[in-house]
Amino acid sequence: MKTDEGCSAFFEIISDWTDGELPAASEKTLLEHLDRCASCRRYAESLRALKKCLASGCGECSEAAALVDECVRKFLSGK
Ligand SMILES: [Zn+2]
Repeated sequence: MKTDEGCSAFFEIISDWTDGELPAASEKTLLEHLDRCASCRRYAESLRALKKCLASGCGECSEAAALVDECVRKFLSGK
């Protein structure tokens, strides 16, 4: 897998995206990237799951949090 598809830029905006704060123009670019980048897709999915979990006040978000953590670590280490 190619490591340099601009993932670092996307990693930052994925967080905004899961908060619903991403402008439509950026969202289109992000979605195109997610379409072909499994790492970012996985991160986006786990982050969304975590935020949903936190929003519901379930108090048992450790699994989702661990997944997000794992994605971030992989990303930071250049996978
Ligand atoms: Zn990516």
